[in-house]
Amino acid sequence: MDHVLGLRCRECGRSFPLEALHVCDWCFGPLEVAYDYEVIAAALSRERIAAGPQTIWRYRDLLPVADEHPVELGAGWTPLVRADRLAAELGLGELWIKDDTANPTGSFKDRVVSVALTKARQLGFKVAACASTGNLASSVAAHAARAGMASVVLVPADLERAKVAMAAVYGGTLVAVDGNYDDVNRLCAELAGEHQSWAFANVNLRAYYAEGSKTLAFEIAEQLGWRAPDHVVVPVASGSQLTKVAKGFSELFSVGLLDGGERGAEAGSDAPVRISGAQAQGCSPVATAFAQGTDDVLPVRPSTIARSLAIGNPADGYYALHAVRRSGGAFGAVSDEEILEGIGLLARTEGIFCETAGGVTIATLAKLAAAGVVRRDERVVAIVTGHGLKTVEALGTSVGPSVTIAPSLAAFEEEVGDPWR
Ligand SMILES: *Cc1c(COP(=O)(O)O)cnc(C)c1O
Ligand SMILES: [Zn+2]
Repeated sequence: MDHVLGLRCRECGRSFPLEALHVCDWCFGPLEVAYDYEVIAAALSRERIAAGPQTIWRYRDLLPVADEHPVELGAGWTPLVRADRLAAELGLGELWIKDDTANPTGSFKDRVVSVALTKARQLGFKVAACASTGNLASSVAAHAARAGMASVVLVPADLERAKVAMAAVYGGTLVAVDGNYDDVNRLCAELAGEHQSWAFANVNLRAYYAEGSKTLAFEIAEQLGWRAPDHVVVPVASGSQLTKVAKGFSELFSVGLLDGGERGAEAGSDAPVRISGAQAQGCSPVATAFAQGTDDVLPVRPSTIARSLAIGNPADGYYALHAVRRSGGAFGAVSDEEILEGIGLLARTEGIFCETAGGVTIATLAKLAAAGVVRRDERVVAIVTGHGLKTVEALGTSVGPSVTIAPSLAAFEEEVGDPWR
């Protein structure tokens, strides 16, 4: 495979082979996949992509693993929905929702897991593993089942009911850990040292895993008719997705699939697409660093209903912070109450039911729109990353029957009637 050069340290630039490596043994910097964009540009075209499958694998020329039969359940090519009713509510012009609730296990994690486990299988791993806030566990367990691999997934013990069921039903080993995600992640880092024959999606395979998020940018551009959006709002947990969405857009310009790069850019920014990050106030280490104008993303102890974003010590926080600053975007952080309002607003205006992480995106979009950061003259995309059925308990009693009645016409007419008459 000649379009991938190898792994490269994001800090010192040293090169490494395409193996299950994730840190530089010189400077401990994180490793990233490096591509030969000249080779890719020579072979790749919009037509070649259009002839591919309606999954993330239509972009295989920009992914780190070439496999005729990837480990997959059909992740990607999710709807990009024009959201005029929500736009009107928020005082925006052209607004789109990237609806990643439509992925096979109900979250955007299927994109990253399909890439990671395809690479894992190619490297000969028989066991897939991960540390998860919930969605990653479900996706790893499902894709491992599909590939005939064993799986060991670790989650915080107090996870939402639906996420526990989804992580368990595929028949792998689900380990509930008494602690928060950061405790689970630390344990997994130790386990990855002990069990080197296991493929940890977000530890030793993280460089490959992370690349899967670029497909969000690729799909958004293609679904917009090969036009770049002006501004994208992305939820932030570890910061990997945001960092790679930014990388995805810049790759499209590098290989000539998108033209120009000047339009929509803020004065002084060097990226053509503005990227803004969304966090919950109960876990907003990156948004806080942005607000304070510092480079130091200080770890926090999470306390938020947005459990899938509850990473207090985000591995890619620093890179996400810089990607946002470089693009001329911003960060926003929203309260639990605003998250619930965001879920309701998206459901009421556009018919899309999202989990708490989606509520974070929508509420942050609303906040940044009100502040004039996201503008009415911009083509805006908000990435909604998980399905609402995953976090129904977060809604509590705020949703339920409008009324409960006896099974009679009289009772219906009395209690409901026809207010639209
Ligand atoms: C994992 C996840 C994210 C983002 O995660 P990063 O670690 O920042 O890449 C966003 N939304 C949902 C629903 C998730 O599960
Ligand atoms: Zn290094």
